[in-house]
Amino acid sequence: MLMHEYIDNEINEKREWASRRKSGHSNDRQLLIITCMDERIPIYEALGIATEEAHIFRNAGGIITDDVIRSAMLCVHFLDIREIIIINHTDCEMMAISGSTVVDALNQIGINTDDMQLNPALPELILKDQSEHVKQWIGMFENIDDTCEKQVALLQASELIPNHIVINSYIWQVESSNLRRPYEKIVTDADDNTQ
Ligand SMILES: [Zn+2]
Repeated sequence: MLMHEYIDNEINEKREWASRRKSGHSNDRQLLIITCMDERIPIYEALGIATEEAHIFRNAGGIITDDVIRSAMLCVHFLDIREIIIINHTDCEMMAISGSTVVDALNQIGINTDDMQLNPALPELILKDQSEHVKQWIGMFENIDDTCEKQVALLQASELIPNHIVINSYIWQVESSNLRRPYEKIVTDADDNTQ
């Protein structure tokens, strides 16, 4: 292919994508990615995708929260999204301290975690009188494999997400820049030699 043909193709594809998106249709892969806000996950490179191929939701931990469910609900019902991929990662700050430590720290700076209002725009959304619930809301975790596996089940359990939506989760190894499945070890050359 001549270079100008390649460039023209690229321009046409981008134009088609832009007009499709303006009319309210999905991204190229009909894909939603949920991942941690940690900058060490280069999400496009990690999955080998381009900007136009996925919607992306990032939060602390890449865990299923009410806002993830809200966003996923809109994606699957109104944006033709058919697949959801959750990417958690090793060395996540969400494993650095416990939920109790976070709640204690909030209390120490004068924040009352009893009857905690979660969203000023929706005052009805209140976490009632239980620091245990606040801890669950903050969502600190200890085991990345366990957490990664559970996120799929949590999303599937939501009545707002239809059963036909394909949901999978993976772990990004920040140390080696590799993806792996939960509880699956990355096979290295050294491992192969010992077998
Ligand atoms: Zn993280």
